[in-house]
Amino acid sequence: MTLRRSLPGLVAGALGISLTLSAVPAATASAKAQAPTTPTVSEQQVMPHLRALQRIADRNGGNRAHGTQGYADSVAYVKSALDRAGFRTKLVPFTYNGATGNNLIADWPGGDPDHVLLTGAHLDSVKESPGINDNGSGSAAVLATALQVAKSRLTPERHLRFAWWGAEEPGLIGSADYVGKLSGAERRRIDVYLNFDQAGSKNTQQWLVVHDDEHGETEAQQAFESWFAERNIPTFDIGVGGSDHESFGNAGIPSSGFSTGISDCIHEACDNLANVEPKTETTSTDALIGVLWKLAATIARR
Ligand SMILES: [Zn+2]
Repeated sequence: MTLRRSLPGLVAGALGISLTLSAVPAATASAKAQAPTTPTVSEQQVMPHLRALQRIADRNGGNRAHGTQGYADSVAYVKSALDRAGFRTKLVPFTYNGATGNNLIADWPGGDPDHVLLTGAHLDSVKESPGINDNGSGSAAVLATALQVAKSRLTPERHLRFAWWGAEEPGLIGSADYVGKLSGAERRRIDVYLNFDQAGSKNTQQWLVVHDDEHGETEAQQAFESWFAERNIPTFDIGVGGSDHESFGNAGIPSSGFSTGISDCIHEACDNLANVEPKTETTSTDALIGVLWKLAATIARR
C-alpha cells in the first residue's frame, strides 16, 4: 500500500512537475482543517434526559418496567427526541409475560450498510424502581450521543444504528428478540455492538470496559481503553454478560461498551435521580462519543 501510494510521487518528481505535486499537500491540509472535531457534552446536555425519565416514573407508580405505561412513556420520550433530530426510528414489538414491549431502533441516514456500528442500552427498569442509574443513565448517554451525531451532521463511514431495549430486567428479552430475528447476513453486517448499562454510578473509581473473550481485544475495547488512558482514568476489564451484550455474544457478534458498576440502590426505589453522579454520567457520555466518532470513521477488516 505504501509503495503504491508513493509511486506517482516518485514518477512525477522524476518528470519535474513539482507544481502539480505541491497542490496535493495543500488540498489535503485544507480538507483536514475542515474535518469536524469530536464533540463533548456538558451536564446540561445529559442530565435533563434523566430528569425526564424520573418524572415519567413519578407519574406512573414509581417505575418504568416492562409492560407498564412508565416504559411506554420512556420509549415515547426518547423516540420524539430522535425524530426531531432527523433519525429514522421504529418500534419493534415483542411479547413477554403476556405484555407487549418495544425495542426502539434509530438509524442515522448514511454510512456503509454492510458495516453497522450498533450502540444500545436497556430502557426498562424493574417494578420496584424508577431505574435512573439502571438504566436511565446508559439510555441517556446513548441518546445524548445520538443527538450529537445529528447536531454535527456526522457523515460516518460505518452505518450508525442506536437501540433502546425493552425487558432487559426479566432476562435480556428485548435484545434477544432483536438478535433472534436477524438473518445470518444481517448479523454479519454488525461490526460491533456497544452496550451501556449503568453509566452514572456514584463514587465511580474506574470504568468497567467490556472485553469480548470470543473475539479477543476488539478495536472498540482498545478505543475505550485509549480514551480513558489519555485522561488518566483507570479501567478494569469485564466479560460479556449480565446485560444486553450477552444477546449479541450468544449470536457471535463482537461487543464492547462499559459500566460504572453496580450501585447500592440497584433495583430499589432509591435508584432515583440522586443515585446518579452528574460528572460521571457526563464523562461516560463523552467516552461514548469519543469512541463512536473514532469507530464511525474507520472500517477495519474482520
Ligand atoms: Zn441494567
